[in-house]
Amino acid sequence: MHEMSIVQTLIEQVEAEVEKSGRSGRVVGLDLVIGRLSGVNADSIRFAHEVLAPGTILEGSTLRISQPAAYSDCRACGVRAEIEAFSMQCPHCGSDDIVIDGGRELLLQSIELEQT
Ligand SMILES: [Zn+2]
Repeated sequence: MHEMSIVQTLIEQVEAEVEKSGRSGRVVGLDLVIGRLSGVNADSIRFAHEVLAPGTILEGSTLRISQPAAYSDCRACGVRAEIEAFSMQCPHCGSDDIVIDGGRELLLQSIELEQT
């Protein structure tokens, strides 16, 4: 599963960040941003986190995932519409002269460390 390797990378990233910050303590929470068009399934990420976190710096941490929507900006009719899936057409007028904005993010937004 694709998401397993994403979470594996995430764990390494968090370890590196915490080490760099020079702080110690358990990681209690993580904020992830997973765009709706990123192709990454948030439920699979949660599952992978559950499976992989024990024994790592993420053991016992809470995962908070936000899933920003994507928008299509139509250059023909000017309508900006939220889209659920990748689309090549404006949902308003059907023109293919659109620009997809957002929804493809995949990033670690913040790490919450236990207050010591
Ligand atoms: Zn349009």
